[in-house]
Amino acid sequence: KQPQQAKKKMGEPELIGITVSKSEDLSEWYQQTIIKGDLLEFTDVPGCYIYQPGSYRIWEYIQEFFNARIRKMGVKNCYFPIFISEANLQREKDHLEGFAAEVAWVTEGGKTKLEKRLAVRPTSETAMYGFYSKKIRSHRDLPLKLNQWNNVVRWEFKHPMPFIRSREFLWQEGHTAHLTEEEAGKEVRQILDHYAAIYEDLLAVPVVKGKKTVNEQFAGAHYTTTLEGYIPAVGRGIQAATSHCLGQHFAKMFDITVEDPNQQVKEGEKREKLYVWQNSWGFTTRSIGVMILVHGDDKGLIIPPRVADIQVAIVPVGVTAKTTDADREKLYDEIKSISATLDEKGVRVECDFREGYSPGYKFNDWEMKGVPLRIEFGPKDSEKSQVTTSRRDQEGKSTIPLSDIAAEIPKLLGTIQHDMFTKASDEYAAHRKLIREWKDFVPNLNQKNVVVVPHCATGECEDEIKKDSSGHVEGQEVDVRAPSMGAKSLCIPDEQPEEIGEGVHCINPKCERGAKMWVMFGRSY
Ligand code: AMP
Repeated sequence: KQPQQAKKKMGEPELIGITVSKSEDLSEWYQQTIIKGDLLEFTDVPGCYIYQPGSYRIWEYIQEFFNARIRKMGVKNCYFPIFISEANLQREKDHLEGFAAEVAWVTEGGKTKLEKRLAVRPTSETAMYGFYSKKIRSHRDLPLKLNQWNNVVRWEFKHPMPFIRSREFLWQEGHTAHLTEEEAGKEVRQILDHYAAIYEDLLAVPVVKGKKTVNEQFAGAHYTTTLEGYIPAVGRGIQAATSHCLGQHFAKMFDITVEDPNQQVKEGEKREKLYVWQNSWGFTTRSIGVMILVHGDDKGLIIPPRVADIQVAIVPVGVTAKTTDADREKLYDEIKSISATLDEKGVRVECDFREGYSPGYKFNDWEMKGVPLRIEFGPKDSEKSQVTTSRRDQEGKSTIPLSDIAAEIPKLLGTIQHDMFTKASDEYAAHRKLIREWKDFVPNLNQKNVVVVPHCATGECEDEIKKDSSGHVEGQEVDVRAPSMGAKSLCIPDEQPEEIGEGVHCINPKCERGAKMWVMFGRSY
């Protein structure tokens, strides 16, 4: 019941909300939600999108948060060119193999064919490490820690999806060089923790930390650590961010060496050369897509307060044709004063004084845009010295005395942030099933779960599981709406549920090997 909600006024534009429900048609829902929420627009180049201020602002909050953290670690921002020579791109064999199918090439400049084609960076290891070789002359030049915020191009042939899988995307890529494996390993983990903090503390999205299996690790890496997210509407996993230890592979190819400072040598003798240990780590605009998919509902976006550019929208209510100009002005002045009080507390507020729109229209509009908290203020609220609040993440309304808003509204925003995370986290936990037998594998996927299973940790077996978990499995009921793709290994979770005892079998009945660890499998984006 919304008594203040005026009827649609003559000449008022009609607000067309989200016309499909999230559970009915996720992909149509997603498209409408991001477009009507003013986050993104399509272009005539498939897989390349316009990030409107609405989404770019979220990206800036992420940048501010992450920059502050990496600066403390001694990482410095810089910029390298977007083009990579073919000779450089080819220097690390595994890396090239991993990216070859997705590289976009520039072959002409104006009307002239280039003598040597140039790659558009899919990632910058090979663009940067020639410079590292020059820059790192001695162990005193270590560690070298550079990061760049840029765009990369991966000409993906899988169906593109805004934010989630695009051909051009924005990210940061950190590239560091260290003297020891231990130091490099420590940093890989530190970065993964920062990434988890972006997801969990800013975007209110839960993630599982782990390591990739060899099959799924980054091309050319020594090992890959990862955050795995979960999209409840489809029950699929999603690779949320990755932090790689590259080992010494690239250092060998690009000749990045220092003399071993710890080696005892006699006078005149040369110290041995050490290849440096390198890391690379990347976090992309995919994160915004995950946030939208996890939190949004049938009315559209729900943006967590910490990354909402407008945290509170104040909508005047109870203004009718009979309201005098003086009364209206008084009400608007009171609203401006509420706004100033909140602004002083660092709350990002917008007063919606738009003329010619009913409160109902404005409510729907702010809801669609995902503003986490709405304040309604009308003559009755004024009389009672209170504001009426409506949380975007919950049904219903409450009131707060005007005298308390400076303390209570920031607190309420904190509560919304917390509750959004808890809800998403409970949902992920409820859909992460520990199973031990193959007969439970596909039925669990079909129930929109990811599964944590005992596994032998071999690539062959992973391939077999992917094949055998796709489509129909003899003797098992198949949910016809479930996508029939097979499950891949998402990660080896850091938090292993139990120790794997002697004689525990790999989940794959065709596999003769014993289980070595718990691995999380799932259908994935
Ligand atoms: P990588 O350099 O391959 O480890 O990728 C770093 C991160 O980028 C991955 O962990 C994904 O979260 C994300 N990512 C990969 N491909 C795409 C894409 N096409 N669009 C947006 N994000 C992506």
